[in-house]
Amino acid sequence: PYNGPRADQVFQKRKKFLGPSLFHYYQKPLNIVEGKMQYLFDENGRRYLDAFAGIVTVSCGHCHPEILNAITEQSKLLQHATTIYLHHAIADFAEALASKMPGNLKVVYFVNSGSEANELAMMMARLYTGNLGMISLRNAYHGGSSGTLGLTALNTWKYPIPQGEIHHVVNPDPYRGVFGSDANRYAKDLQDHIDFGTSGKVAGFIAETIQGAGGAVELAPGYLKLVYDIVRKAGGVCIADEVQTGFGRTGSNYWGFETQGIIPDIVTMAKGIGNGLPLGAVVTTPEIASVLAQKIQFNTFGGNPVCSAGGLAVLRVIDQEKRQAHCTDVGSHLLKRLRALQQTHEIIGDVRGRGLMVGIELVTDRNEKTPAKAETAVLFEKLRELGILVGKGGLHGNVFRIKPPMCFNRDDADFLVDALDYAISKL
Ligand code: PMP
Repeated sequence: PYNGPRADQVFQKRKKFLGPSLFHYYQKPLNIVEGKMQYLFDENGRRYLDAFAGIVTVSCGHCHPEILNAITEQSKLLQHATTIYLHHAIADFAEALASKMPGNLKVVYFVNSGSEANELAMMMARLYTGNLGMISLRNAYHGGSSGTLGLTALNTWKYPIPQGEIHHVVNPDPYRGVFGSDANRYAKDLQDHIDFGTSGKVAGFIAETIQGAGGAVELAPGYLKLVYDIVRKAGGVCIADEVQTGFGRTGSNYWGFETQGIIPDIVTMAKGIGNGLPLGAVVTTPEIASVLAQKIQFNTFGGNPVCSAGGLAVLRVIDQEKRQAHCTDVGSHLLKRLRALQQTHEIIGDVRGRGLMVGIELVTDRNEKTPAKAETAVLFEKLRELGILVGKGGLHGNVFRIKPPMCFNRDDADFLVDALDYAISKL
């Protein structure tokens, strides 16, 4: 049994010594003290089904034994020395990661977070093209550092600081977007934006291949193919942010960008790459990577032996446990059951996603698509009471985000849907 500090003590201390910008889930914040695969445990030993994976980060499962073992064994030998010396772990991990990428995406930079990965990708895009302007989508989240904050287009995070030359184009959101699923019209908006809102040249375009924080929004089919062509003609490079979508989660593909049939020039990743370790990566072509050769690009912790050993174990586990196929199987079951539930509950306006990257958007009026904000908040608390932790997101905070550790199974999916059914019927 857990004998450590209780929720109220932790909360008081956190309020006193950590910044006021922190937010927490639930009216009575949860004190999570242990995790095992798809389950989390609170201070009272109560078990919760984790359908949000520490914000889509714990890809293989909490404290997955094989990954834990890889980290532990490496920690006993050597934790840190930096890339000024040789160490096999970073080279092995880079080789394994590159083997997962299509085309000429073969050069890896390791960093410690998604924001850092996107900062580096943006810097490379600017250096490589000699242009400054970056384009991203409304409703995007690409990080909270001073550079990536500009790419992010969700007002929750928008501190008023200079954000460089960044353009946000209309979001190709099939459910709420002004042009529905018509990728051509969204692409035309981007072309217009380049023609009329920039010098005509851009450094790059970045998009999540399924928007995460924005509420599991799949981009209109065919959109990325169209805009990648437009951006490249305007001298820019195309960046895929795979921080949430990578590593088999979509089921149909290992990388989210493959669902749109394109190959990016730069791919950024974090979160699931480390199953909880602070780890991120940027993968690009030798040609683009060469622009950084003019100076030293150094990152003290990036790809350190412990993170590299852990990351390599993550890749191995995803393959060994056939997690990509599992995400297809469990994800399609979950989506099928949620779509059936949508038939019986008016409040479920949209069910969307792929594999284990699923969004449930709640509305009070299906025609007007009025966000059911208050109801979402009530259901969110109710699900917690019933023992299920989900994510919340979207511009209006009315989308449940179901992105569990990839070991989440059909029984877990059934439990989630049954609990949601029950909670909605009690509204
Ligand atoms: N990109 C995406 C798509 C993300 O979801 C996030 C984090 N929510 C980031 C980048 C930034 O990652 P980090 O918090 O590790 O800096």
